[in-house]
Amino acid sequence: MRCLASYEQEITARVDDLFFYPPGAATDPLLAIPETAILDLGPILREYFLLDLPLQPVCRPDCKGLCPECGNNLNESTCRHPSTDIDPRLAGLQSLLSQD
Ligand SMILES: [Zn+2]
Ligand SMILES: [Zn+2]
Repeated sequence: MRCLASYEQEITARVDDLFFYPPGAATDPLLAIPETAILDLGPILREYFLLDLPLQPVCRPDCKGLCPECGNNLNESTCRHPSTDIDPRLAGLQSLLSQD
């Protein structure tokens, strides 16, 4: 979310649903065992995994993210360019300070 680096995260899902055979008895198509009698847990696990994923995934809690100026990954190195991280909406205040 912050630095755009890929990372691995363990997610778990507990499946305690009741699956139906013949499939016509299932109220939810995800809970139907098909006529082949082979139950593919992939689709229902995908649903559970999506629920377990964090809304704002970060590679680590203290991820510093990317430099808004140059895009440098601040976890890997600090920037050497002068910091000009003044919010444009506050730039007017900055000019007042520099007059003193
Ligand atoms: Zn990160
Ligand atoms: Zn930078």
